[in-house]
This record gives sequence, C-alpha cells and structure tokens, in this order.
Amino acid sequence: MTDTIIRNEDLRYMLGERRHELQSAVQSRLSDARTDQHKMIGDELEHSDADTQEGLELSLLEMRAETLTRIDEALVRLDAGMYGSCYECNSEIPQRRLQALPFAVRCQACEQRRELAKGHARLNAQHHSGFSLFPDVVRL
Ligand SMILES: [Zn+2]
Repeated sequence: MTDTIIRNEDLRYMLGERRHELQSAVQSRLSDARTDQHKMIGDELEHSDADTQEGLELSLLEMRAETLTRIDEALVRLDAGMYGSCYECNSEIPQRRLQALPFAVRCQACEQRRELAKGHARLNAQHHSGFSLFPDVVRL
C-alpha cells in the first residue's frame, strides 16, 4: 500500500515535470509568434518562407498541446488510481517504462504479445493469399 503511494507520488512528479516543460515551451512559442507578426508587416517577400516555417511550428505547437492534454488525462487517471497499470493483465507497468513512455497502457510483456499477434496476423494473411513460400502443407 505504501509502495503504491510512493510510486504514485513519483509518477505524479514525473508527469508534472513534463507538463511544466511542455507548458513553458508552448507559452514561449506563443509570445514569440506575437512578436513575429509585428516584424512581418511590410515584409511580403519573405512571406512564403515564413508561412512554411509557421506551419511547421504550428503543428509542433499542436503536438505539444495534445501531449499536454494527454498528461492532464494521465494525471486524472493517476488520481483515480487507474494510471500505470496494464490494460491487458492489470499488473503494474514498471516505472522505468512509464518514464520512457508516459502514455503506455500495456506492460512490456503484453505489448510484445500484441506485436507478435500482429505479426502472426500478417503471416496468416500471406498464407491465405494463395501464393506462399511456406505453405501450411509442408509443416504437416
Ligand atoms: Zn500486461
């Protein structure tokens, strides 16, 4: 029980740090964008370049905003005691894994099993396509 509390505090801290990083990145970009707009008036020649650049930064910004939302959701799940356990087998996802993949919903074993299942599905699709280098018959 105490372990869970400590773990949750660690995870909350980890998510909070990430949230803070993203938020300041988004905010500094937003204030930069405002300054840029001022500079750009009467600078029509560089407009197309600036547009491309702005498009790129906008999608980056959107990505960060989306990540922020996901962190918020993760924090809500953490409060509800639903963060950090595997969706498939309900076991605790190791903290190390969550640090690398804060939005992981499966433990490594389940994730691997899933990848494997996907691979098998692909293989089976090949078997049934009519032409295969490894016909089922050979294995009988
Ligand atoms: Zn699992």
